[in-house]
Amino acid sequence: MAIETVGRRAIFSCAVCTYVLVKRTSYLMHQFLRHDTYVCSNPLCSAAYTGHSELTAIASPSGIPDALGCDLPETERARRARDQAVEDARNQGAQMAMALPPAGSEPDDATL
Ligand SMILES: [Zn+2]
Repeated sequence: MAIETVGRRAIFSCAVCTYVLVKRTSYLMHQFLRHDTYVCSNPLCSAAYTGHSELTAIASPSGIPDALGCDLPETERARRARDQAVEDARNQGAQMAMALPPAGSEPDDATL
């Protein structure tokens, strides 16, 4: 079965006549798994194919604070991004602590 592309979108082609396949049905089998049926766009052929679309990993972590967890594993890139965000927050906290006056000291007139 050949694969054509239109822009960045991949389109399957019929293995028999090479016409473009059109997705006819798709239903969710599982939270991360869809079953798809494709039909050849050539009316003389009309071959049909089935397959699956599956989410297998988190490529980018959610930006929502306190987001619910997910059962999918992170990609290596997502894990590095999360580790970097934790490190950045830790460094920012250290810089904020250095900018604050020592505890119990009187604020000077410039900070009032
Ligand atoms: Zn066909």
